[in-house]
Amino acid sequence: MRVLLIQPRPGAGAGYKSLIAVEPLGLEIVGAALQDHTVRLLDMLAEKNIAAAVQEFRPRAVGISCSFTVDVQQTLNVAREVKAAGKGVFIFVGGHHASLSPEDFCHPAVDAVVVGEGETTVPELMAALEGGGDLHTIPGLVLNTGEGQFFTGERPLLKVLDDVPPADRSLTAPYRRHYYLGLRRPFVTLETARGCPHRCNFCSIWRFYRGRVRFMSPERVAEEVQSLPPGDVLFTDDNFLADVRRAERIAALLKGRGVPRRRYIIQARSDTIVKHPDVLRQWKEIGLDQVFIGFEKIDQSGMEHVNKQNSVENNEKALHFLKSIGVGVYASFIVDPDFTIPDFKKLIDYVKRLKIAQPQFSILTPLPGTELFAKLKDRLTTTNYEFFDLLHAVLPTQMPLKDFYREFAELYRRAYLRPGHVINTMKWFVHRLLTGQLSLEHLKNLVAGVRLTASPFAYLKKV
Ligand code: SF4
Repeated sequence: MRVLLIQPRPGAGAGYKSLIAVEPLGLEIVGAALQDHTVRLLDMLAEKNIAAAVQEFRPRAVGISCSFTVDVQQTLNVAREVKAAGKGVFIFVGGHHASLSPEDFCHPAVDAVVVGEGETTVPELMAALEGGGDLHTIPGLVLNTGEGQFFTGERPLLKVLDDVPPADRSLTAPYRRHYYLGLRRPFVTLETARGCPHRCNFCSIWRFYRGRVRFMSPERVAEEVQSLPPGDVLFTDDNFLADVRRAERIAALLKGRGVPRRRYIIQARSDTIVKHPDVLRQWKEIGLDQVFIGFEKIDQSGMEHVNKQNSVENNEKALHFLKSIGVGVYASFIVDPDFTIPDFKKLIDYVKRLKIAQPQFSILTPLPGTELFAKLKDRLTTTNYEFFDLLHAVLPTQMPLKDFYREFAELYRRAYLRPGHVINTMKWFVHRLLTGQLSLEHLKNLVAGVRLTASPFAYLKKV
C-alpha cells in the first residue's frame, strides 16, 4: 500500500524557525515501521505543491505530523489540500500536540488522530485499511465520525525502547541539506530516550509519556550513532542525562569503538551536570559541544513557581563548569506576562553578568496538555494557536502589550547585538574562510542567525 507522510512547516508567524529546522524524526521512525508498504515523505520545508505530490504518488493513506501547537493550522491546511487532491485518501494526524489535543482535529478533512506512539499504532492502522479491518478495534486512535470523535482506547506505551525501529533517514535524504541548528549544518538528530522524571508545570513531555521514562540501551545508541549521516548530532531526549550511568556507558562505547569524533549537542538539567561533572568531561572528550539547559528563572521563587525542582545556584554552577571545560551553553529563560520594565532589566543584567553567550527567551505560554493550560485556560487572551509560538503573549500582560513586546524584543537585541557576540561571529566567519570551510550553506546559516536576532522585531510589528 502506498503511504505518504507529510511534515508541515510553520506559517509566516513563528519566529524560531530561523533558528532551527529539524528533520521530521517522528515520521522517519513511523516510516521505518512501515517496511511492508511503499512510503514517501514530503517535508514542506522544501516542497510547495501538495496536490501534485498526491496526484503523482496516489497514496491510499496520508499521515501528517503535528507535534507543536503552533503547527495546528498548517496541519489542517495540509489535510484540506490532500483531501481535495486525492479522492478516497485516508488522512490521519499524529504527533505530540495531536495526541494531547485530538479535539483540535475534529475536522472533515481528517479521518483519524493517532494518539501516542505512532510506530506501533500506524502499522496496525495501515494493515486494517488494506485488509478491510475494523478501525474501532485498534487502540490508540481517535476516529472522526459523522457524530463526533470516537476514542478506541489507550494503547500501552512500548515496554522496551530498543523495539523502536531506527529512523529511516533515506526518506529525508532529498531534504537533508535544509536542516540546521543555528549555524550548524549539516545537522542530524537522534532520539535515545522518551519521557522525563520531573514535573515542570509548563512542560507537556511528562504528561505525553504518562509520567514514565524509558531508555534505549547504550549498545543500541552506539550502533545508531555509528550509522548516522554526517553532521553535528543533536540528541532530542528532553533530559539526556536522566540516567547518568547510561550516558557514561554510551560515551565509553563510542570511544572504545573508535567512533570518529563528532560535535554532540544534548539537553540536560543543571542539577545533574553539577552532580556528575565527570560524565560531562567524558562526553567532552568524545565531542560534546553544546548543552541546552532550561534555566527558566533567575530567582528561587520563580523556579518554584514553575515547579522546576532545581536551583538558580545549580544553573550558575553548571554554566561555569561547562564553560571551564569548553562546552557551550544554550540557556533558556521564561518571560512572564506580568513582567514590568524592572523585571526585563533584571533578566538582561543577569544574562550579561553571567556572560551567557546564547540565551533564549520565551514568553510563558500555557501549551495544551500542560498543567499550566489546565490552570490558566480561562485567562487566555487568544485561542488562535498561531500565537502559541512562545514569542507572543497569550495571557494578559501587566504592561501595555506594545511596551511588553518592545521590551521582549530588546532582550534579544541586547543579548545578541553586542560587541562580544559580533566579534565571535566574525572570528568564526574568518576561521572558516581561511580554512576553506566556508560554504554557501554556512552563509545561509549566518543570515539565518541575523534573522533570528531581528525576527522578534519583524514579527511583533505585525501583531
Ligand atoms: S522542562 Fe525539562 S526537566 Fe521539566 S519536565 Fe520538561 S523535560 Fe523534564
